Amino acid sequence: MTDYNSVFKDESKLDINFVPSRLPHREREHRLLMEFFDFLLRCPERMAQRVIITGEVGTGKTALAQRFGADITLEANKKSLRLRYVHVNCREYRGSLLLILQQAVSVFRPNFPKRGFSAEEILSALAQTLDEDDAYAVLALDEFDSLVEREGSEAVYKLTRLQETRPGKPQRISLIGIVRDLKLLDKLDASARSTLQRNVIALEKYSEPQLVDILNDRVAMAFEPSAVPDDTVSLVAELAQSESGNARFAIELLWRAGKYADSEDAGEVLPECVRRAVSSIFPTMKKAELESLGLHEKLFLLGVARFFKENEQAYASLSDVEKAYAVVCEETGEEPSSHTMIWRYAQLLSSLGFVKAEVAAVSTRGRTTRISLPAIPAAELEKELCALLAKEEA
Ligand code: ADP
Ligand code: MG
Repeated sequence: MTDYNSVFKDESKLDINFVPSRLPHREREHRLLMEFFDFLLRCPERMAQRVIITGEVGTGKTALAQRFGADITLEANKKSLRLRYVHVNCREYRGSLLLILQQAVSVFRPNFPKRGFSAEEILSALAQTLDEDDAYAVLALDEFDSLVEREGSEAVYKLTRLQETRPGKPQRISLIGIVRDLKLLDKLDASARSTLQRNVIALEKYSEPQLVDILNDRVAMAFEPSAVPDDTVSLVAELAQSESGNARFAIELLWRAGKYADSEDAGEVLPECVRRAVSSIFPTMKKAELESLGLHEKLFLLGVARFFKENEQAYASLSDVEKAYAVVCEETGEEPSSHTMIWRYAQLLSSLGFVKAEVAAVSTRGRTTRISLPAIPAAELEKELCALLAKEEA
């Protein structure tokens, strides 16, 4: 196969980290973000903004934040305002505020010592650095869930009360928290929550026609002209829509379909390439989704996997898996979540397709939920989860 037969013009435009210059169907949310920060551009010292972006996997949270970050920086520069957008993925730093802030401060002060400073000290050092440069920072905390899960309200207080330790000084640091599930913030104290929840931007799942628009943009950027027929785009959008409106899935599927086309020197990405790609995509996509689950969602799922590994039955009751989860928690030294939370985990994992949770019977004693594991062998799921949990521990 020679290169010039490739269906691709520029594969990098399909990379998960690529942020396109426009995000179809997120224009309104982008504008809203710009409006929230408009005052900051005009009177920067008077206000630090706090915004939450929420939505399920693949709804464009990360892309929206990064697009906004680049655009607001540009706007600020036009006004000769020194503003820097810093995007940190909390999960990469295992939800540790200290590690997250170390990463953030290193953007401004690459030689800032790694040891010997508390989170509060790093924050005030960051503010002081900004004072010295007369600069401002927008700190986007992606996968904020993992920070809340690990450090709870304390971390939020530290982040939001910085200004109280510097009376009369300009506000320097704005925050954008990116969470998959707003309910997660219920874990916080009311006052910690109220400092965060004033401005919430909720991203809805994409519809099929919306996914078509998103895909068409990428097709134009990444593929040779007329290498991708409309039918192919429709099929990809339809499959991604049934995967809960997930744009990440759509783009990954399109890329893989292109790879199949190239491997056969087809010169065109036909629907058959999509069908072949989809059968190979589930395992890897699921792995990425597994990784993005919260700690207790993982522990719960591990309980489910253990239950089905040890019992030769197709269905479990919620209380069976709740017991298995409690054992897992004990092993890992974690406090088990409440029954209500457990029910939520089951719903979430069900909507992501890891388990199936269905109401089995409505009796006088209420509803019983039954859980099954439709698609993944229990032993494999257990292995995968243990590896992820060990990585997070490390
Ligand atoms: P999330 O952070 O919500 O899981 P991402 O922001 O990572 O989702 O989006 C997943 C993928 O889909 C990324 O490659 C992103 O660039 C792309 N994407 C999401 N929404 C859009 C959109 N409206 N327009 C173009 N690409 C999008
Ligand atoms: Mg993301």
